[in-house]
Amino acid sequence: MNWNHLRALQFSDLPLDKEDRAILEELAERLQDNYPYHTQEYAGQMIKPPHALAQAAHWMTSFVNPNNHALDGGRATSALELEVIDQLGSMVGYTLCLGHLTSGGTMANLEALWVGRQSTPHATVLASSASHYTHSRMSEVLGMPFKEVPTDAQGRMDTEALEQLLAASEVPPIVVVTLGTTGLGKVDPLADVVALKEKYSFRIHVDAAYGGYFKISQLPKETQRHFEAMPHADSIVIDPHKHGLQPYGCGSILLKDPAEGRFYKHDSPYTYFTSGELHLGEITLECSRPGTAAAALWATMKKFPLAKDGRFAKRLQESLLAAKGLHKRALEQGFWSLDPELDICIFSTKGNSSTEISIQNRAFFERKANEGIHLALLKVQREQWPWDLQWDSEELVVIRSVLMKPEHNDPAFWMRLLD
Ligand SMILES: *Cc1c(COP(=O)(O)O)cnc(C)c1O
Repeated sequence: MNWNHLRALQFSDLPLDKEDRAILEELAERLQDNYPYHTQEYAGQMIKPPHALAQAAHWMTSFVNPNNHALDGGRATSALELEVIDQLGSMVGYTLCLGHLTSGGTMANLEALWVGRQSTPHATVLASSASHYTHSRMSEVLGMPFKEVPTDAQGRMDTEALEQLLAASEVPPIVVVTLGTTGLGKVDPLADVVALKEKYSFRIHVDAAYGGYFKISQLPKETQRHFEAMPHADSIVIDPHKHGLQPYGCGSILLKDPAEGRFYKHDSPYTYFTSGELHLGEITLECSRPGTAAAALWATMKKFPLAKDGRFAKRLQESLLAAKGLHKRALEQGFWSLDPELDICIFSTKGNSSTEISIQNRAFFERKANEGIHLALLKVQREQWPWDLQWDSEELVVIRSVLMKPEHNDPAFWMRLLD
């Protein structure tokens, strides 16, 4: 079992009686039924273990149990939240920004689309077919029309197709640009989308829930160019609970123009104003929010400032190197593999038909799981797959590996993974 260490936790500072301890033992037993997310062997979904410092800060703050909805619910953690938002804003290159933490990327994206709709009623949402599936769902929630923009052969938003949609738009639309798609880890051409603003009027929302932190890492020139265009986006979403070493429940939204705070205006009879300062509760869709998330992120960023060439950037670099390394090794071992742009590596066994190869890849995935190495499967379409094969099914099942931990940058691990 991979989670046996949970049984050893003593919680000696807590006033727990015998009955409580017995229940915790039972809980530790129940929690054994999980994949070993915290180990090198887990390279499946986009799951990265929180840093121990983040866990400790989260736990410590839970004794206060602050509510960052309003200053009177959590004074200290509201101040911490403003600090972390300021640092995230500087990282993306905003000079001034309005923003806050959210429960995750989906809520943050919902809010960004909502602000877009408040600024331009009747706007259509344009997002690539590789964007996160929740964009179309959230557009539905907001009652906004949604149109899919096709991707190019690499899985990035096709700017020519986007231009046609922009040319045909009557109301300035909201273009969702994904920096780091969830499936293939591809970076949409943000700089080229920004350039289209010379000819067309539209709003840009950047979904960098997964990829945002790579802003401070060393990327290939072309990828870097798109990350550098981030300050031109009207809104940006980054999930500290994806690459930022945080426990779940930590997303963020950043708005370039603080004046957009006016869209949130509400008069709640329940919220007391304890000062003339900005209320985080005034600029969120969600009401109660855990101040623990701000505390954990603040503590983590004290240790890991968001500096280029800093400790945190070095950790991210390990992930990029891991994906490149695994890709190269996969080619050497006779697999097909797509060149990774961030830290997701896609590979496949070779074969003649899509049905046959999909069966082989599923078998490979199962065999690895039995060996204790956890990968993921991904369905790709013909346009996304550059190699010749007989397409006797709509989709091809390939192997997806997300290398989010520094420990993944290890040739011995790649060999075990591909063996
Ligand atoms: C994970 C992800 C989301 C959704 O974020 P949650 O925190 O899971 O709600 C949105 N967009 C992208 C690109 C993502 O990778």
